Amino acid sequence: MPLFDFTKRMEPVRAIKKRTLKMILEASKSQYPNEFAAMLKADKGVIKELWLLPGTESGETSALFRMHMMPHEPKIVGTVHSHPSGSYYPSDADLDLFNRFGYCHIIVCEPYNMRSWACYDGHGNRRKLDTV
Ligand SMILES: [Zn+2]
Repeated sequence: MPLFDFTKRMEPVRAIKKRTLKMILEASKSQYPNEFAAMLKADKGVIKELWLLPGTESGETSALFRMHMMPHEPKIVGTVHSHPSGSYYPSDADLDLFNRFGYCHIIVCEPYNMRSWACYDGHGNRRKLDTV
């Protein structure tokens, strides 16, 4: 059973602001060798803000989201985290998280540039996300 089943109330999302993506890449770089993790907040279909979940732990192997700290916020559409490993493919733990929550999940990896990231839907399939 999903922890939070309010997907239907979530905003449909088509793009992310370049500025927000750059912020993610910078934060991921500065967190290295740990993972950076945050929630993605969209407004009118565009991700414009990051929301840092209180109590989110950064570690070298996984970023743990404390889902019980999650507010009922329909504008939060998914998650972002970094892979210091250099691969933006989701791990089994990532797929489990994607499946439980949201429909737009970004993974960024080394070297943390505008090409080293990918976006997935709730089933772990690659999905298109424009940068604007
Ligand atoms: Zn991961």
